[in-house]
Order: sequence, then C-alpha cells, then structure tokens
Amino acid sequence: MSRGFLASSLVVLCVGAVFGASAPPRSARPRPIALFLDDVSPATRKNAAAGIVALGGRVLHAFDDVLVVELPAGGELRASRLPGVLEVALNGVASAPRRRGQGPWFGRAAWNAIARDTGTADPGREAPGPIEDDALTPPEVSLDAVRAASRSLAGVQGGTRQTLSTATVTTLSAPFGATALNTSEFLAGAVSVNVVLVESDGTIEPSSESWSLARENEVVSGIAAGFEWIRLQEPQASLRFVYHVIPGRTDARGRTGYEPIRHAADPLGSTGEDRWATQILGKIGYTSGDRFARSRAWASDTRAADGTDWAVNVFVVDSLADVDGMFADGRFAYCFIGGPHLVMTYDNQAWGIARMDMVLRHELLHAFYAFDEYATSGCDCSSHRGYLDGANVNCAACNAVAQACVMISNGDALCDATRRHLGWADLDGDGAIDVMGQDPDTFLDAIPANVCSPPVLTGLASVVAATNRNTYPGTTHPSISVNRISGVEFRVDGSPWMQAQPIGGSWGIPQGRFSAASPVLVPGSHHLEARAVDDFGNRDVAPGALDVVVHAAVAALGDSVRAVRSGGGLAISWGACGGATAYRIYRRSSPSAAESLVAETPSTNWTDSSASTGYYQVRPVDACGGERSD
Ligand SMILES: [Zn+2]
Repeated sequence: MSRGFLASSLVVLCVGAVFGASAPPRSARPRPIALFLDDVSPATRKNAAAGIVALGGRVLHAFDDVLVVELPAGGELRASRLPGVLEVALNGVASAPRRRGQGPWFGRAAWNAIARDTGTADPGREAPGPIEDDALTPPEVSLDAVRAASRSLAGVQGGTRQTLSTATVTTLSAPFGATALNTSEFLAGAVSVNVVLVESDGTIEPSSESWSLARENEVVSGIAAGFEWIRLQEPQASLRFVYHVIPGRTDARGRTGYEPIRHAADPLGSTGEDRWATQILGKIGYTSGDRFARSRAWASDTRAADGTDWAVNVFVVDSLADVDGMFADGRFAYCFIGGPHLVMTYDNQAWGIARMDMVLRHELLHAFYAFDEYATSGCDCSSHRGYLDGANVNCAACNAVAQACVMISNGDALCDATRRHLGWADLDGDGAIDVMGQDPDTFLDAIPANVCSPPVLTGLASVVAATNRNTYPGTTHPSISVNRISGVEFRVDGSPWMQAQPIGGSWGIPQGRFSAASPVLVPGSHHLEARAVDDFGNRDVAPGALDVVVHAAVAALGDSVRAVRSGGGLAISWGACGGATAYRIYRRSSPSAAESLVAETPSTNWTDSSASTGYYQVRPVDACGGERSD
C-alpha cells in the first residue's frame, strides 16, 4: 500500500521535472488582444502603446498598424477608447478595418497568426529534417566600423550613456552596458525585428521572382508566429517585439538588381549575399563598410530609435518560381551567430511556407548564441557559449538521451541546454533567470553625522548586470542589463517603506539619482535606509544605510537680552534657550554699520570690556553649528 503510494508520487515528480521548464498552458496566461490603429504614424503607435502601459498592460508585438497587447482583466473596453485605436480584436479577423495612409501593412495577417494557439504541438507539421550547416560565425567587425556605418551613432561613444555624476537622463541608445556591437547578447526584453522581403528589379540580370501581397503576408505572419512561440517559452524573459517590414515590391529600398535565388547564398563570400545585401543595406541608408558593419549598424540604430534592447535583421529571398526553394549552393536558411542577420527563402526547401515560423525560430535562436544540436551538425558536448556560457550538452552526436529541442528538429520543444545558451538559466538559484534577476544597487551620498533638521537622503540607484560569461570570439561581450530602475524606497528605524523621488527626471532608466526627505524625527540616533527597485521586481537586498544623530531645534532667544554698564565696559546677559550649545554675540557701532562677531560662549552672559556703547545681537547656536537669529 505505502509502496504503491510512493511510486505514484514519483511519477508526479517526474512529470513536473519534464514539463517544469515549458511555457505554462495558454489558458493560464493573459490572452493577447489586438489593437488596430487609426493610422500608421509612429506618433499614433507610441501614444497607443503609452496608453496600454498606463492601463497596466504590455505591448507584446508592435506592427505599424497593429499592437498585440496583454492587458489586466477587463481592460479591453478602456483600450478601445485610447486615442488612435480604431478597433480592438479579441480573435483573428477576416479583414482589417479601414484606416488612413497607404499600405501594405502586415499587422492583420500577423495578428491572425499570433491569435492561433501556438502553445501546443501540431502533429501535422513535423520537421522534414535538420537545416544543415546554418549557423555561421560572422567576420569580426570593429566598433569603429559600426559607428562609421551608423546613421545615428556616429561620433557617440559606444556603451553606457549614463554617468554616475549627472542628474540629467540622456536618451539610451542601447541597454545598460551594451555597445553597438552587442545587438543580440541574450534573449530577454524588447527586440526590434527588421524584415526585408528582397525583390529583384531586373536592372543587373533578369528577374524571375516577384512577390505578391498575399505571399508577403504569409512570410510576415509566419515570422510573427515564430516570435510568439519564442515569447511563450519563457515568461520571465519578458519578451516584446517591434517589427519593421520593408517589402521590396512596393518599397524601393528592398530591391536589388540581382535575382538572389539564382546565385549561391555564399554567406561568407562575395558571390551571393554580399552582392544583394550590400546593395539593399546601401539603399536603406548604410553606405559605409561591408555588409556586416552595415547590418550591425542598422540593427543598432533600429533599437536606438525603438528604445528596445536588441535588434535582428531578417532577409527573406523570394523562391516561389525556383524549383527547389534553395540557393545555388543548397542553402535556404542560415543565421550569423550573435547576429546581426539571418537569411531565409520564401519556401525554405522542403519546409514550405507553412513552416516559416519553425524555420524562423531555429534561425533566430542562433542570433542569440544557441548551438545546433542535430547529430550531423558536427556538434560536440564540450563546446560552450552564450551569455551564461552553457556547454552544448544536448548535442545528439554525443548525448544518446538528448532531449527533444528546436535546435535538433525545429519542433515544439526547447531543451535546458538551449535555454542556458539564450540566458534562460537560474544559476544563482534565486528563482529568476540570471539575466533578469540581478538585484539593483543603492548608493547613498554622505550626510553630516549630526543634524538639527529632518535629514534629506540623496543617492544613486543602479541596475546590476549579470556577468556576461560568453567567450565566443569575434566581438566583445560586456555585461549588460535590460532592467530599469522603477523606484527607490526608504525608511527610518525599520518603519514601513516610503517612496523616494527621482531627481531631474523620472524612473524607467538603468541609473538615476533620487532624493528622500525624511519625516520630522525626535532627538536621538536614527537608522536611515534606501533600496532601489527595478521593473522586474528585484529589490536591493542590502539597502544603502546611514546612521544619524538628530538634535533638537534650538529655541528662540526672545526679548531676554539685558545690558548694563560695568566698569569701563558693558555686561550683557540673556535667558537660556532650549537646545542651544553656545551663543554668539555680534556688535555694530551704529544701527546701519556692518556687524562683526565679537564672542562665542556657552554661558548666558558676557562682558564687552572694550566698549561702553554699541548695538548687540545674541544668537543661540544649535548642536549642528547653526544659528537662530529671530
Ligand atoms: Zn541551425
């Protein structure tokens, strides 16, 4: 009896261990809804997004014309009344509402793909096989080359825009600690996604492929579904995506004189990608350096403009007319490890357009340092990389019991090894993935040990970045945090915490100065503490602390001063003032003359032996050296 009970308990535990790392079922999560926007201006989009945040919601996927959002229960009606919101959709929609401005816009198709439940496996969509040799090391590009290529970062120092000394908040062009080279270091926070639907214009060689609006929508909705699947894998990563689509059919920036699918992909050479991608990046505005410097600069500029943490560029080459959906060298989908871009064809060889989401998610994870794990990839279990430096222990070539994983089969599973490569591991055991779970720091400015009026605490609150352990060659790997300070709390002698105020700005920044005016305190010793809080809910567990002795305020002297002639001088006396540690005597020769300090005494009388006339003022001095003159 007891034996049977024990056995069933173990079964329950095992199930928990297997499924514990997976996304919770969709029914347990807030259901995303879509806001169709009135027009496609960035201002409308930003205002609507700000409205969603004010309602306590989050924007999960932002397209030009549609915001896919998560709201607290019952928020739909209020969201529908936000300025710029034309219509709210709870489910997929047959047609987009009429709006101002020219299209094409892809939000409706993307929303329909996202609205389908992507949290469960679809047995009809197994992978046809691994995508061979699709993870490539990009050539090393210097920070100077990326800055030179950039349209918005030129001349700006890379990395942190915050300083410890300034109270002024500057616009962040990168997450805390990142440089323009670090556009995809770990997969958490907000990600900008540039999508180019590459179109041939026949100017250099004959064009044999031409996009249609219907197929553009298929591609963008497949990409969005792939990102939604990724988002659902790790709620703690707080993933959000902002999309910018350049359809070459209607946007000249996405056009090339070549017909890319007729050439080798040649990702590292000069006969394929180099020709058309360099051309297109030039049309987008990136004319300096090779395609890797241009692509990285585009990613860096996009995240700066969007205020996101990371960015990845996605080039999709049309292959509808092509017989095998592959480039001439057999490639059809590949990604540069650590970014800045990935390339796919429209129908991805045997995968087909219906599996675009599956191809996207595998390739995208390479941009964030995930390894291939299929047996023929040449993987080995001792290789290691990623922000948390994980070994490739789920490699099927050396692990006979490798877990199912998107990096093996592109299926619906995500293994623990890949999670660690992306930064999704709780190595410090605090219940939060390390890249999000670092407690912020609180630094207090010094104040006098003795005070006679309520003390004002000031200091600096700062997020703390998890250590970047990535040793992958080719670029620097600084420690980076995507968290933001959301407040500072302070208290006196263990009282309930109170809110400090940001100095010269508002919260929502990686580092910021604060000020906290303490309440009036009774005389005696007091213990003051302040702790920073970030937007992920981390609190400084070792608050900044100061001890201070508060002295009573000194009482006024009133009318108690008396003066009498004494010998050749003048004897002055006054009544004692509560809280006074001394008295200062000032003298003037006439009512309009300048005063001078002639004595300081702890007594309540003093004789001026040098003068028999004069004008005197006595001021009590408090324990902090301050005078009271009334
Ligand atoms: Zn791969």
